[in-house]
Amino acid sequence: MFNALIVEKDDEGKTSASVRQIGEDRLPEGDVTVAVEYSTVNYKDGLCVGPGGGLVRNYPHVPGIDFAGTVEASSDDRYKAGDKVVLTGWRVGEAHWGGYSQKARVKADWLVPLPDGLDTRQAMAVGTAGFTAMLAVMALEDHGIKDGPVLVTGAAGGVGSVATAILANLGHEVAGVTGRPETADYLKSLGATQIVAREELNETVKRPLEAETWGGCVDAVGGEMLARLLGQIKYGGSVAAVGLAGGAGLPATVIPFLLRGVNLLGIDSVMQPYDNRVRAWARIAKDLPMDTLEAMVQPAVLSDLPALGRDILKGQIKGRVVVDVNA
Ligand code: NDP
Repeated sequence: MFNALIVEKDDEGKTSASVRQIGEDRLPEGDVTVAVEYSTVNYKDGLCVGPGGGLVRNYPHVPGIDFAGTVEASSDDRYKAGDKVVLTGWRVGEAHWGGYSQKARVKADWLVPLPDGLDTRQAMAVGTAGFTAMLAVMALEDHGIKDGPVLVTGAAGGVGSVATAILANLGHEVAGVTGRPETADYLKSLGATQIVAREELNETVKRPLEAETWGGCVDAVGGEMLARLLGQIKYGGSVAAVGLAGGAGLPATVIPFLLRGVNLLGIDSVMQPYDNRVRAWARIAKDLPMDTLEAMVQPAVLSDLPALGRDILKGQIKGRVVVDVNA
């Protein structure tokens, strides 16, 4: 028997989440059984744990869109008992039971061997949010980061914190946009050299082009903020669009694309092919200072998750929450 956070739906469609003891026979089908050590709290997890079940596809359900742990049993040649592995994406925690559990069973294709230089806790301090931040930085690099500060929106959140730390460590000047002025010292400790108040960027586009200010952008917010900042990107620069914490609409014009050659790069962490995932995790191990990563971490246990899920949907989490599923 082992512990898992189970989300159930009653006859009236009301969902509830609680930590339960379950047997291994309850685990879904898969090639690899993993003794999970750590999982995390991402925006999607907030939706899945919260009322209504968000993105959950089947009940009862174990949420947790990422995890790291040790292989216990494998019917796939690529993995053997004792291997350290990490998982992000592939709708685990939404359509397939996820990481809020002491055991998980998944397809071998969804896993990645833990890269040298990271332990399972560090891998989950990074988690889906940090993995996505790395994908965003790699996409900006592929298209060329222009001179000048790189803007990071939703900077005090999970994606924003890791993007800030990676970009600063790579030698870029980083301007962090935040709605929480009290996080300024935290953002500076991650390497941000400039703090931009959310209000400054949160107005609907008035002029489609403004002063060329940013050498690139990792955007976790979307909505009006993304529309506004497109007109501030330097000629030929790029925005890696990661999230929609501020809204799914995009009240923009085509002018920044036509007159400034701005690139809008969509980042999807869920369906990344194996080689890309390995490449991104290797870059994380190399380019993200582990002491800076530690400064982002808030520890948690399984029973904390319903409350943490509410917090992340309200934009109240700072940095990354690491869930020790065995604590
Ligand atoms: P967090 O909640 O940790 O961070 C989001 C941050 O956005 C908040 O901390 C806050 O930062 C800011 N924010 C929140 N609400 C608003 C608002 N209404 N207007 C402006 N800013 C706001 O979430 P994550 O960093 O984990 O995820 C960020 C987004 O990225 C989410 O939409 C998530 O779904 C998405 N995502 C996408 C992935 C992909 O594959 N494309 C993978 C992972 C996440 P501050 O307080 O500093 O202003």
